[in-house]
Amino acid sequence: MDVLTHTLSGIAIGTVAISFSDKSFQNKLGVIALAGFGAALPDSDAISLWSKFDLTLGKFFDLENSGNTIYFSKFWYSHHGFLHSFFAGLLITIVFTFILYFVKSKFKKLSFANLTQNIKTRKVYLISFISGFTIHLLEDMPTPGCVWGGVNFFWPSKLYIGGTGDIWWWNNYDIFLIIIGIIVLNGLIHTTKRIIKIDARKLTTAVFILGVSLSVFQVKTRSFDFNYIGHTPRYEEYEKKSKEVQKQILGNKLYNFMLKFDNRIPINF
Ligand SMILES: [Zn+2]
Repeated sequence: MDVLTHTLSGIAIGTVAISFSDKSFQNKLGVIALAGFGAALPDSDAISLWSKFDLTLGKFFDLENSGNTIYFSKFWYSHHGFLHSFFAGLLITIVFTFILYFVKSKFKKLSFANLTQNIKTRKVYLISFISGFTIHLLEDMPTPGCVWGGVNFFWPSKLYIGGTGDIWWWNNYDIFLIIIGIIVLNGLIHTTKRIIKIDARKLTTAVFILGVSLSVFQVKTRSFDFNYIGHTPRYEEYEKKSKEVQKQILGNKLYNFMLKFDNRIPINF
């Protein structure tokens, strides 16, 4: 799935998470940003496709293979490998927790009790980050098997999960719109909760669950099977088909609006 939809999914998680925080507005914005960042992070393993990868990182680490070969292989550092595992999300969260603890405490009065207290006060941050990271991995599962056959969710196990080809790599405008819907509705809940007495925790969670259920329904009811194993000579045909499917779902007006937006942004969306 495209990185914009991934990032917005993390932000949607953030809009639920802040209902469980009684901290300042800035703090809540931080939670939302961190969830969005966590949801974009797994795709940083696509750095091997960067045009200067071979001349920079490839040369520095004296890598045997080109960036392109690395990307389309099943090394632990290839795309959909380690960085698309739950363990990576957990490890980054733990490292991040320790760094934050050492920086905030300025290396003074270090103790297990202090560390636990630190984790308790930042739990909404940490849970949002790892939830954002994890939703990215789940969202990549219905994309085509390609050379990986899914994502290496349970690394260090060699098992790759997903790769079902229910959806194309991008052009999933309907899912994008559902996620935007979750963010807008939860934003409204947060802004009106002071005026009307409503249970923001229950409502934002309900909106999120409804949005996820709708997305799963959309993913599972595409009128075309996009799956392929390895590389496919029909790539362009599938790409075109993914747009036709969107046209069927959204109708001409909304589809054309989304297409214009797609053409304006410089990433695959
Ligand atoms: Zn990904």
